[in-house]
Order: sequence, then C-alpha cells, then structure tokens
Amino acid sequence: MNEIEQLKQWISASDNIVFFGGAGVSTESGIPDFRSVDGLYNQTYAYPPETIISHSFYQQNPKEFYRFYKDRMLFPEAKPNAAHRVLAKWEENGKLRAVITQNIDGLHQAAGSKEVLELHGSVHRNYCTHCKKFYSLQEILSMEGVPRCSCGGIIKPDVVLYEEGLDDHILQKSVSYIRHADILIIGGTSLVVYPAAGLVNYYQGDKLVVINKSVTPMDGQADLVISGKIGEIFSQIE
Ligand code: NAD
Repeated sequence: MNEIEQLKQWISASDNIVFFGGAGVSTESGIPDFRSVDGLYNQTYAYPPETIISHSFYQQNPKEFYRFYKDRMLFPEAKPNAAHRVLAKWEENGKLRAVITQNIDGLHQAAGSKEVLELHGSVHRNYCTHCKKFYSLQEILSMEGVPRCSCGGIIKPDVVLYEEGLDDHILQKSVSYIRHADILIIGGTSLVVYPAAGLVNYYQGDKLVVINKSVTPMDGQADLVISGKIGEIFSQIE
C-alpha cells in the first residue's frame, strides 16, 4: 500500500484526528513561509527577520517593525487552499478534534474550521496598548505607518513576537488534544520554533504522520512520512 492509501485508511477509521501545522500549510495560498529557500529568512533586509519581529525591536523601533510587518506578513487577499478545506471538512464530519497552528493568517477559520488553537496569535486581532480597543486587520491596513488608536496609543497585533511567551491556556489545551489524539498529523512546519514544536512530543499514539516538503526532526519517529506539498496531498485524500 502506498503512503496516501495508508493515510486514507487511517483517516476513514478515526474520529479523533488532531492536526499540528505551520507556515507550509499556507504557502499554497500565496503566503511565504520563513525557512524555505524562497521564504522570508532567505531574503535580505536591513535587520534579520527574527530581529524585526521581536518584542524589543517592536518597542524600540515600531516604525520599522510595522513597515516590515505590513509589507511581508499581511496577506489580506489570501484564500484557504485544499489543506485548510479538507481539515475543516473532517471537523464538520466529526473526524477531527482540533487544528493546532503556528500560523497567524486566519486561513483555517476562513475555511470553516471551528476548533483552531492559534499558538502564535492572529493578524486579525489588534489592540490598543493603552486603552485595549480592538481593531480589525482592515483597519490596521488603512492606517499609514504605525497604527494608532483614537486615544493616541500604539496598536499592537495580537501576534506572539520573538521574546514573548505563549498563552498558557492555549498551550494546555493543545497538550490535551495531542495527548489524547488517535492520529496526529504534523504538516508544513520545520518544527524548530519552540515551545510550539515541543508540543508534538506529547503524542502517545501509534499513527504519527508527517507531511512536509522537506525533512523534519520528527521524520525518524513518525509512523508515516509523506513528502510533498500538503495542499496537493490533501486534495488526494479528501
Ligand atoms: P517554517 O518556515 O520554519 O517552515 C515551513 C516548513 O513547511 C518547511 O519545512 C517547508 O519545507 C515546509 N513547506 C513549505 N511549503 C510547504 C507545502 N506546500 N507543503 C508542505 N510543506 C511545506 O515555518 P514554521 O515551522 O511554521 O515556523 C515559522 C514561524 O513563522 C511560525 O511560528 C509561524 O508563526 C510563523 N509564520 C506564519 C505564517 C502564516 O501565518 N502563514 C507564515 C510565515 C511564518
């Protein structure tokens, strides 16, 4: 049996699938990842991207932070691809319990997924750092330079920057879903951003699936490794 057939069989027999994904899930929607050859980290900027999207840089140089963030990290026109759509369908059909994502693009929700645990936040939520007023992505995009609240405060995206901690409640919920999962599918992530990447170690089952374009640190432990583009692969297992 080939890998796709094996995965199809496991999926048809399960009602407790959990998906753990990263930036590679959205590259087929036109959003670049960080670590592929054409990803953000291989492009040249005045500062390395890890520096620009860190908490200290945001505080010291919000103008440059926002120039980069708006230019390279916001893709308001992006649409869900087959991977997002199939995951949403599995949830609707009672097969998938949760999508745990490192992505900040909101495409799983746009595809119809309900239980989405956003480990690194979302570009769709933005708050005034002074009065906490909420702003949508469209509002941020319509403001020139550093977005400011009507009260004068700087607006910060609800995105976890480097040097910032993850939400404890989301982490605990993710651990619980992974610990109790029948099938854990890891897709489109280099698994190098911690603590998010460490969550997959809580899986206790015997159907650990990795779907990725390049090798990952979990390939050796996986029960099934499918190499390729996740959208193309998911469209074959719908
Ligand atoms: P990463 O860039 O480190 O790794 C992406 C991985 O996905 C790579 O291993 C790459 O080979 C693989 N990949 C790329 N396209 C693929 C495809 N079509 N099918 C299968 N695999 C594919 O991304 P990461 O591990 O998620 O970590 C980077 C951090 O950057 C995350 O924390 C995330 O918050 C953030 N990020 C988010 C977005 C987004 O929201 N769409 C985009 C870029 C980065």
